Amino acid sequence: MTQPAPSHILPTYARAPLEFERGDGVWLTTVDGDRYLDLGGGIAVASLGYSHPHLVAALQEQGAKLWHTSNLYRIPGGERLADRLVAATFADVVFFTNSGAEANEAAIKMARKYHAANGQPERFRIVTFEGAFHGRTLATIAAGGQQKYIEGFGPKVEGFDQVPFDDHDALEAAVGPETGALMVEPIQGEGGIRVFPPERLRALRAFCDDRGLLLVFDEIQTGVGRTGTFFAGERSGVVPDIMSIAKGIGGGFPMGACLATREAAKGMTVGSHGTTFGGNPLAMAVGNAVLDVVLEPGFLDRVKAAGLGFKQRLAELQDRYPEVIAEIRGDGLMLGLRGAVPNGDIVAAARDRHVLVIAAGDNVVRLLPPLVISDSEIAEAVRRLDAACADIVARRAAPAAPSGEADSHRTSAVLKGAA
Ligand SMILES: *Cc1c(COP(=O)(O)O)cnc(C)c1O
Repeated sequence: MTQPAPSHILPTYARAPLEFERGDGVWLTTVDGDRYLDLGGGIAVASLGYSHPHLVAALQEQGAKLWHTSNLYRIPGGERLADRLVAATFADVVFFTNSGAEANEAAIKMARKYHAANGQPERFRIVTFEGAFHGRTLATIAAGGQQKYIEGFGPKVEGFDQVPFDDHDALEAAVGPETGALMVEPIQGEGGIRVFPPERLRALRAFCDDRGLLLVFDEIQTGVGRTGTFFAGERSGVVPDIMSIAKGIGGGFPMGACLATREAAKGMTVGSHGTTFGGNPLAMAVGNAVLDVVLEPGFLDRVKAAGLGFKQRLAELQDRYPEVIAEIRGDGLMLGLRGAVPNGDIVAAARDRHVLVIAAGDNVVRLLPPLVISDSEIAEAVRRLDAACADIVARRAAPAAPSGEADSHRTSAVLKGAA
């Protein structure tokens, strides 16, 4: 590969030295013609894989008709997509955005405005959880609470209180007369595929009902079939008041949405919020096309089955390489390997074997493949991850192995991995 020319793009990303030109299903092809099996899906975005014929057709058809009108006028595709999202969820109303962070901004503003409309504007505070990720706008970095994203950007937006992931007493203590809502990812994505147990979500719902708090689910990463149900919260039976979605709903077209009950949305009257691009005809055409496929009978069952099979194979991989993989996590096709080695080593070793995975918090490697991944592609993915683990073991054994202990064990693992 030739050395790339200096980039004029703001250097906020640590990019891997790969340039892709084409995609097909779960496969990406570089400008040099190398093929990679993509278990990252562009961070859970390419829900139907690359170049899905139904999505391509929807985009081309709309592209030839009308791209943009603004929200000064009714947008038929948006009306239809909202109808379908409402029919398939708890929600009564939908606000379309261009991204996940904007969907969360809408959710945050809505929760605050709800209490204002009830004559309690002082209830603007929102409780969130450690390890959370809610986006990169000024409000959503405050909501996520991670110092590395907040530092240097001026005063932190007021009104977010973080509590530990699984400490109900801390939650009780954090809620005061100014608290208006609780915001949670049913499975933390960036935080490291940390699953909120269903009984915990039910406890949060009961707690919110008891205190008059709105419950906000951030399903930007977990939603639209990722975990084998339309939304991840469904497996707990818990219904939120507000829910943000993005990533998977666009299948690669940038879009998001904030869904809510009519009650929770009651403060959001004419003029209270808006966007120039959100819900534009191109995005709506693709969103509807994604739903055509994801809501087809049997599609979500197939995601669930594929996820179970994949997780089982990963558990076997962990058994073979306990010195590389410490734990398997997740639901459906939102899976995580917690590293026994630095997660970056696993990401790099996988990339060397032409399989793409994504690092997350808690030393986890995330697998978020397109939902259309086949059983044989899962088998191929596991073979490549097996080889990557063997490479890591071999590399760790190689440099002037210190006397004795784990060496014979490591060698046998290499042999097994190579078999
Ligand atoms: C990706 C993500 C966001 C932010 O979405 P953007 O489109 O990057 O703004 C927010 N919350 C969760 C849970 C996410 O995974």
